[in-house]
Amino acid sequence: MFCYNCMHRISDENNYCPHCGRQSYPDRMPHHLSPGTSLNGRYLIGNAVGEDGFVITYAARDLNIDERVVVREYYPMGHVRRNSEQSNEVRLVSEGEAAYFGKGSDEFIAMAREEKRSGKADVRDLFAENGTAYIVTALPRGEQEEFGARRRPEGSNEYNDGFEGEAPEDYRSQTDIAQSGRQAPPPRKKKGKGGMIAAIVAGSVLVVALAAALIIFFVNGGKSKDDKNIPTTVAVTTAKPEETERPTEAPKTEDNTVQMVDVRGRKLSDAESQLRELGLKIETTREFNDEVAKDYIIRQSAESGQTLRKGDTVMLYVSDGAQPPTTEEPHSKPEFTTISASSTLRGEGMSFSADNLRSNDGSAWAAATETGGEWVSLNANGDQWVNGAVIVNGFAMNQQTFSDFGRVTAVRFEFSDGSVIEKELSDSMGQQTIEFGREYKTNSLKITILGSVPGAQHPNPALSYISIF
Ligand SMILES: [Zn+2]
Repeated sequence: MFCYNCMHRISDENNYCPHCGRQSYPDRMPHHLSPGTSLNGRYLIGNAVGEDGFVITYAARDLNIDERVVVREYYPMGHVRRNSEQSNEVRLVSEGEAAYFGKGSDEFIAMAREEKRSGKADVRDLFAENGTAYIVTALPRGEQEEFGARRRPEGSNEYNDGFEGEAPEDYRSQTDIAQSGRQAPPPRKKKGKGGMIAAIVAGSVLVVALAAALIIFFVNGGKSKDDKNIPTTVAVTTAKPEETERPTEAPKTEDNTVQMVDVRGRKLSDAESQLRELGLKIETTREFNDEVAKDYIIRQSAESGQTLRKGDTVMLYVSDGAQPPTTEEPHSKPEFTTISASSTLRGEGMSFSADNLRSNDGSAWAAATETGGEWVSLNANGDQWVNGAVIVNGFAMNQQTFSDFGRVTAVRFEFSDGSVIEKELSDSMGQQTIEFGREYKTNSLKITILGSVPGAQHPNPALSYISIF
């Protein structure tokens, strides 16, 4: 299979393309050729990578020589239409567009010839299909060698400047005429190449005949001039608009109703302007979606073809892209500002205050009595998210103090919402990590001694360090 974005060959089952670093989503704009379409029996079409109102540019692959190429399609926006879900045929918006269409295709082909003549682009092929014309060019120089490069190729901005590695949003922005107009000026700009193409409205089809010389040039690779077996014209037939075809734009009926259009797979901004034009109001809901690229429509509340009133609200479900991986620590480290205790041992020439629990520096808190129920309480300014505690048991300054003072065998943790969990402590000097089993939201933590073993000199239970995480 091929990546629709860059047309490199890929194998990943998740559609991930290591060449352009993107997911291979098929472009689903109805007026674009469907990705996967084959043209002229050899060009496999990928996603549209540029559009300027005159030409749609596609990532493509020449299957005969197994190489990535650029395919440009003559598509004068506003004068023709297409719904590729039904057919790849380009149709005139109205019969009155025939002259404009013919003149534009004249200039489209003149553009190819000029590119070929001047060496501006490596023009490989020119042909008619789907009622319009196509130009095939090699990728800009350097692209084939920079296989899989994620950066834009240097010095190749004339057209389709490297469609790999750009986010869909980036190449969508190339539809801006100011940016991409250089690659295909609209027909009115160019003059003087008339006569190349004759546009004739014949019966129900528009026939565009390409100039004989041009066709001979391409068929023979520019070598032969007078081979009689070479066809002298190629007819581009564009069907007249038909009333029976389901229109891309919903018809506006007289009684203030509109028909909902299918905006699934379209970019939100495009869908919004289309629906507003129909007189519909839009609400959006964002959700993660692995299949649909960010800012593209996943689904819509009203079905395509459904009759709505102007002013009705349509809900559009918009992709926020794939769900980001959940982080290991969604909340910042908890912070408790004050620490207090039910009682504090006095004497022995040193402090046993609860503040000693803040650091693991050999100091300790010791309770004034050995009776159960002594506690230490931590308090915070506002809610904290807590997952567990690191505790150092006993008076762990050294082996002597550790055995001289009492050690705690079990504690109860009590959170500000009343939740309670009980944990045993090990009778050892090192740090002990206690997991609460889940995350608790709390603004205080009361740690009550449930049992202790007396020390050799002092029965009073002691703790050297408490840190909450
Ligand atoms: Zn790719």
